[in-house]
Amino acid sequence: MNISTYTVKPKLPVPLKPLEEIARNLWLSWNFDAVMLFIRLDYDLWLKSQQNPARMLGMVSQERLEKMAEDDSYLAALKDVYDRFQHYKKRDTWYKGSRKDMIAYFSMEYGMDVSLPIYSGGLGILSGDHMKTSSDLGLPLVGVGLLYRQGYFKQYLNGDGFQQESYPENDWYNMPVERKLDKQGKPIKITVETGDRIVVAQIWEVKVGRSSLFLLDTNIEENAPDLRDITASLYGGDRETRIRQEIVLGIGGIRALRALGINPAVTHMNEGHSAFLGLERIRELMHDQHLSFEEARQALWPTNVFTTHTPVPAGNERFGIDLMEKYFRPWAQELGLPWKEFLALGRENPDDDREPFCMTILALKLAAYCNGVARLHGKVSREMWKNIWPGLPIHEVPIGHVTNGVHPRTWVSNNMVELLDRYFGPHFEEEPTDLNIWNRMERISDEELWRTHERRRERLVAFARDRIRRQLQRNGATESRIQQAEDALSPYTLTIAFARRFATYKRANLLLRDPERLLKLLRDSERPIQLIFAGKAHPHDMPGKDLIREIIHFAEKYDVVSKIVFLEDYDMTMAKYMTSGADLWLNTPRRPLEASGTSGMKAAMNGVLNCSILDGWWDEAYKPEIGWAIGQGEQYEDTNLQDEIESKALYDLLEREIIPLFYTRGRDGLPREWIRRMKTCMKEIGQSMSCHRMLMDYSNKYYFPALKNYKRLVKDNYQESKALAAYLQKLRNAWHELSVLKVESNARPVMQRGDLVTVNACVRLGSLAPEELCVELYYGSISNFGDIEHAQRAEMKPIAQEGDCYKFQVKITCESTGHQGHTVRILPKHEGLVHPYVPGLIKWA
Ligand SMILES: *Cc1c(COP(=O)(O)O)cnc(C)c1O
Repeated sequence: MNISTYTVKPKLPVPLKPLEEIARNLWLSWNFDAVMLFIRLDYDLWLKSQQNPARMLGMVSQERLEKMAEDDSYLAALKDVYDRFQHYKKRDTWYKGSRKDMIAYFSMEYGMDVSLPIYSGGLGILSGDHMKTSSDLGLPLVGVGLLYRQGYFKQYLNGDGFQQESYPENDWYNMPVERKLDKQGKPIKITVETGDRIVVAQIWEVKVGRSSLFLLDTNIEENAPDLRDITASLYGGDRETRIRQEIVLGIGGIRALRALGINPAVTHMNEGHSAFLGLERIRELMHDQHLSFEEARQALWPTNVFTTHTPVPAGNERFGIDLMEKYFRPWAQELGLPWKEFLALGRENPDDDREPFCMTILALKLAAYCNGVARLHGKVSREMWKNIWPGLPIHEVPIGHVTNGVHPRTWVSNNMVELLDRYFGPHFEEEPTDLNIWNRMERISDEELWRTHERRRERLVAFARDRIRRQLQRNGATESRIQQAEDALSPYTLTIAFARRFATYKRANLLLRDPERLLKLLRDSERPIQLIFAGKAHPHDMPGKDLIREIIHFAEKYDVVSKIVFLEDYDMTMAKYMTSGADLWLNTPRRPLEASGTSGMKAAMNGVLNCSILDGWWDEAYKPEIGWAIGQGEQYEDTNLQDEIESKALYDLLEREIIPLFYTRGRDGLPREWIRRMKTCMKEIGQSMSCHRMLMDYSNKYYFPALKNYKRLVKDNYQESKALAAYLQKLRNAWHELSVLKVESNARPVMQRGDLVTVNACVRLGSLAPEELCVELYYGSISNFGDIEHAQRAEMKPIAQEGDCYKFQVKITCESTGHQGHTVRILPKHEGLVHPYVPGLIKWA
């Protein structure tokens, strides 16, 4: 059968034309006025279209459109929104530099709006907020991802509370995406070799304010069915599908940008999923500039940024060697690498032939700039990946951190944004990088803040009741049970929310551990609490699914179904209701398995107080003035003991602090002390966890230096990289010849603070010259284990040649008191190195 296809667009009356542009730009997702335009057009259709303005425009009757085209007040609102939109795209931004060289941001998923379901959870939401914020800042950044025929699964529970999954198909022609066409109007396509087959992909664009996200799609007729399925679903396929997805994302992604005329000067890999892009960039450069593998690798290393997002070992992608054989043998050949050396790029121990190929390791080896997503996660990542840099002290492992953030105008509820706009002034919207504006929280009246928050709680309760009623109806519940749902939850009760992926380490059931103690709190007639749960378990995660069932059964068994509810199908819409309408945001992961977490930040910016284990972002943000910490950051071997201790701590907090604080009301009915914390919390977290802070950090720490590196390297035709590659080769060849023969100092057994110590080291350099190396003194206090702690470094100067040795010297002043010590080590030294930590190149005395 030969089917001809074409796309039909809605016919908008001229005065309503601007709606089309608004509907096709995700700027709408963080501008509620724009959403209101569609709600006003037809509320039922808005819901029916699943809050998808692009689809909705095709559903509205011509009659209704004609009518609204003559409605003065509607047209005035439309003009107002459209003018703001145009102004947004033109206004001055934080970034003022050139847009010639781009930063390409790669992620497997993007969560920007419910109308674009290509996300599963935290990583997607973060990538979405990254895109929105880069638009606000005016950064020269484009996103790259995959366009899935089906998004992540939708969750529903059967009558027994057991999770079921369904996979609705996305209708891309009615979504806020646009196929990229060439000058002749034909789709732009790129090809990628996957094993011995060629896969073709077309490219879609999502407009995000000023920025663009490009999504690759292999579901086109040129491809055989199994290749069409590469982009069938997010995290859905088997290992083979997964490696193909990552090939299309990484390698195809770079080719797509080239096909669009975009130069990805700096690439930012998020998780190892996209790390193959590093190989494609190397291949390109070898080909275009006739560089060797090592030269091209050194040229790109200072322009690659890598962010790891998970401290859970299983969350780090690894491929078996059989799959690598199938897909990357030809690549090794093309790159001129022996197979073993190629595999070494993804191995901790290059000599272990059984070690699978790890995408995180590949990314860590190809990027000069690596980071975790919170302070604690940076530390955990250094510990996790330290073996890649044998001999390097852990605190020097070159993985830093940039703590995640959230996009305020996306996540702060429209009611609260209105209030903030009123008190903060227009500056709040115009200059999102001015974080000091949150200091104006103090000006907001207690009454207004509380009324706004109570309104959000009422909205949450109404939303939850509606969802529960529909859940029950679908499962054929009795009429009386459905009636009961109408009374589920109370809009006046202290509401505790727990919404996150149902993985066992997140311990959704921690609060259920002592039923008696919990029931007492739920049933208290004067100061009750209520709980709202939501979250999906991975389809194959049986223990995760059991957790959901446990909650449902608990509520039924103890007859508290109106006080403990589980809402199906957690997504961005639900997250918005929950993070703005709850009073307390609960988080109970096993430290340190939560990389950062962002839902608690969303809650905090809405004035919802956090009660959490000191893990992820909360480990660095917590202060008693803004919320509660469960425990003090302990880590346990015995998980049962941990649950026992931490659940007790949680009950104690609720009973002694949280509930009394919430219900202590003045004569005006206001919980003044609670409100004070809300204000402090919004102020502090608005400043520290805004995605604008995060993107300024990424820019200053990584993007800008990387862009500078790129310009410098291109300008001198990669001479520096060639020199660096030659230098490193020379170093590797000569490294075994190096040794520190003797270290001497004039330190006496007891010294005084301020005394000068001279240290001499005699170093055999072999065929290397003294200026080719950094010989340094590594010194500090000696710990109980005999290690040097809080080490300082001082470069030593060559002062004399003695035979085949060099004498290096440095003088230091005794500054710290106590038990001190020093040693000497040798590192590479080359101006082309962003940092001197090259795996395998470190030598200690
Ligand atoms: C914010 C958000 C997440 C991530 O939150 P965590 O704190 O990491 O659990 C996941 N899913 C949705 C729908 C969200 O809005």
